Amino acid sequence: MTDLYTIQHARMLDQDDPLKHFRQRFVIKDPSIIYLDGNSLGRLPQKTVDHMEIAITEQWGDRLIRSWNEGWYLQSSRLGKKIAQIIGAHPDEVIVSDSTSVNLYKLAYGALKLKEERTEILSDDMNFPSDLYILQGLVKQFGGNRTLRLLKSPDGISSDMTEFVRIISQRTALVTLSHVAYKSSYMYDMERVTELAHMHDALVLWDLSHSVGAVPVSLNRANVDMAIGCTYKYLNGGPGSPAFLYVKRELQERMVNPIQGWFGEQNPFEFKLNYRESEGIRKFLTGTPPVISISGLEPALDMVLEAGIGSLRQKSVAQGEYLLSLARQWLVKQGFRIGSPELSEKRGSHIALKHAEGYRICKALTDPETGGSVVIPDFREPNNIRLGITPLYTTYEEIFLAVEQMKEIMDKKTYMKYPGSRDHVT
Ligand SMILES: *Cc1c(COP(=O)(O)O)cnc(C)c1O
Repeated sequence: MTDLYTIQHARMLDQDDPLKHFRQRFVIKDPSIIYLDGNSLGRLPQKTVDHMEIAITEQWGDRLIRSWNEGWYLQSSRLGKKIAQIIGAHPDEVIVSDSTSVNLYKLAYGALKLKEERTEILSDDMNFPSDLYILQGLVKQFGGNRTLRLLKSPDGISSDMTEFVRIISQRTALVTLSHVAYKSSYMYDMERVTELAHMHDALVLWDLSHSVGAVPVSLNRANVDMAIGCTYKYLNGGPGSPAFLYVKRELQERMVNPIQGWFGEQNPFEFKLNYRESEGIRKFLTGTPPVISISGLEPALDMVLEAGIGSLRQKSVAQGEYLLSLARQWLVKQGFRIGSPELSEKRGSHIALKHAEGYRICKALTDPETGGSVVIPDFREPNNIRLGITPLYTTYEEIFLAVEQMKEIMDKKTYMKYPGSRDHVT
């Protein structure tokens, strides 16, 4: 047995990793840079480069408009089917469309229309701000006495289910939460929350942005009504790659799309003057999809399907536990606190470490001038350093070196030379 806190041990864990060969399939120009931000922007798969080259030079450059009938028109549904396999949904329940924020708007609007007699939207104060902004906008738009009620986290890390049970009521039209919280990585019990909401006849909409491709999700088994999610994080679809939405079969016909455009029409190319909504999930489309961006998503989805979400989760949990054991050994005495749930079953695939000097520590980690490893995590106000684990390409050695570098920065106080003023994107 090698000592747990040595690089030899990390290398041994990498040797035994059944998913280790996937790392070679990503473009990694400088392997010495430790990228722990795949929870914000996933790495570029090598196949995506070739796939997009074909989309641009052959499909666009050569086939031109003919490409619409050679795959483009059905691309959103075809890739939706692949995502459906990753999130435990029927193939006809998922479609690639717009951004996560826009999809939330569409589905939350549809839900509020279905529950017009009810007044409350229930979310929490750990949700992603864009989600809350969209909901605040809907409250304004719907008017009347509608309110957005936020479940308060007792510690900013996890959720209090007793409080949830106390505040959900017959007034609740919609419960909408991030399955995995973007800051702390707290993971809700999807089945339990969905069941509680249904007991009160409320609808449920899950944001899967931080779970899809990282943790197993079974929308059908949990009887989830609606879901949305992002594809540029653990699904490695590339910056701004379009999001997806899910609506369960039984709801599709009853729900309206508030932004009805020609791509959600029964037959856009009949150019009818009056809108007739499409059957099934396509009615939630609006305008022309970003064809080239969607192309970039396919090789990445195929890789997640090939690895299997069960194996990805297994490795993610093992790496998370490994990171936490190193952090407890080296960082807690340097003033760090664990900002994520300690129990792996209550956690997604990133680990947040809190430190009052978190922002400057992140600056030192990313700066090649610091000496030692360059580590790219990200920072979330006011004091969270997020370390994202993407089991397709993160190695144990990287985790070891990253935590070791954090220890070095604290020992030598190198973070003190950086200003605390924030960049535009953190
Ligand atoms: C990343 C993320 C989004 C992204 O929204 P876009 O509209 O696609 O920019 C939304 N919600 C959550 C919870 C996220 O983590």
